Amino acid sequence: MSGPDVLQTFDPSSGRPHEPVPINTTEELTAVVSAARRAQAQWWALGFEGRAELAQRFLARLDDEAVRERVARCICGEMGKPIKQARAEVANVHRRTASFIDRAREALRDEVGREGNIEVTTQWRPLGVVAVVAPWNFPFSTPNNLVMSALLTGNTAVLKPSEFTPRSGAIYHELFAEVLPPGVFGLVQGGGAIGKALVESNIDMVAFTGSIRTGQAIMREAANAMKRLMLELGGKDPMIVLPGADVVAAAQFAVRNSLTNSGQVCVATERVFVPRELEPAFVDAVVREIATLTIGEPLAETTDFGPMANAAQRDVVLGQLAEAKTAGARVVVGGERRDPGCWLTPTVLSEVRDDMRIAREETFGPVVSISIYDEVDEAVSRANATDYGLGASVWGPPGPETDAVAERLEVGMIGINRGLSAAAGAPWVGWKMSGFGYSRSSAGMRNFLQPRTQARTI
Ligand code: NAD
Repeated sequence: MSGPDVLQTFDPSSGRPHEPVPINTTEELTAVVSAARRAQAQWWALGFEGRAELAQRFLARLDDEAVRERVARCICGEMGKPIKQARAEVANVHRRTASFIDRAREALRDEVGREGNIEVTTQWRPLGVVAVVAPWNFPFSTPNNLVMSALLTGNTAVLKPSEFTPRSGAIYHELFAEVLPPGVFGLVQGGGAIGKALVESNIDMVAFTGSIRTGQAIMREAANAMKRLMLELGGKDPMIVLPGADVVAAAQFAVRNSLTNSGQVCVATERVFVPRELEPAFVDAVVREIATLTIGEPLAETTDFGPMANAAQRDVVLGQLAEAKTAGARVVVGGERRDPGCWLTPTVLSEVRDDMRIAREETFGPVVSISIYDEVDEAVSRANATDYGLGASVWGPPGPETDAVAERLEVGMIGINRGLSAAAGAPWVGWKMSGFGYSRSSAGMRNFLQPRTQARTI
């Protein structure tokens, strides 16, 4: 997808090539990082309220509907997200940032402790320059989550967008950098090689959202200088439907949460565990719900479901589906590849067993994958039998039994009779191999800060 000096991307709906985007040289990268380094002391000296005011100025640019629409159309054309969902992504940036500002203000507050005649003040100081390495599935809001956290806490930042969505990253950079002092927020474009060069450059922290494999590579790349890390990684989110659950509500959620953004969401539902006696009704309800979706061009106002973002990701999903079928899973609907572009129709797969690759590895595609269980304990242990631990949901009669099942799931974020949520400034956090550090919440903001203590005798 990239030549030696350019990123060549394609419209996932039509397969037509976009204008290529130049890849930065390592000399250019060094200059961007050096500018961020030089700008950092003054950025910190501006103080929290000064930084927050500039963040608000960026948000004010998004008040303009024409600006929001330009961003949404860019996301749509680069990764095939239906325009309604692309607009929601832009709106989310606006909505979340107010909470980021409050959480960062809390995170920066000194804490004073006394013991005998000693007074110790814990201060929270920026790390320096934060490299933000981003994926393609939320190409505007994910950079904002990480860049905003880095900047509000007094760090400067350099963003490397995904090689699949360089323009959405560039618009984010343009809108924000224009209201900031020079050097505070830099941009570099390129693929994994530039990502690696950025991680190995003169930066202090890497804030990364992406796959576990790249997260592991970044840990290795950052090890020599012990750069700080915040890694938000992939998931294989289970959904457990308990006896007595509202089957229709659960099925509607399974469809929405497995198929939004063509399933290319880190917290998409990837494994649905259904009691044997409820399975036929659940599968029926899922199929009925899918029939209500409008599949179409991403730019059309009515479209609920568009293409996948790129051919490589579609190949991963097609490979998992083919293996699952051979191993005995049943394709109830969908699974059709359509060209040109990267289309894969919404797919319902039933009779999925845990030894199938589709039940073990992240799918990141439009598949509702349904497995049968007999005992609740069995469902819980199968849901936990994975290295992933990002999100989950439990569906059952409201009350202590359903809550007890949620309590036993080894994940960072759980929804009970709904999807998970980082509302009210809660952390966005993965357990096990789905995360290392976390963002949002005041504790999350502290991942971007260094604690230091000052003691005095009183
Ligand atoms: P990816 O890991 O392939 O790439 C992510 C970024 O890392 C890209 O910008 C890429 O160029 C860069 N990169 C690649 N190799 C690198 C290296 N050696 N050093 C530094 N940077 C390097 O992920 P993707 O395919 O873009 O995104 C999909 C993945 O992201 C999925 O696994 C998904 O679950 C995950 N994700 C997680 C969250 C979360 O909050 N936990 C959110 C969104 C996406």
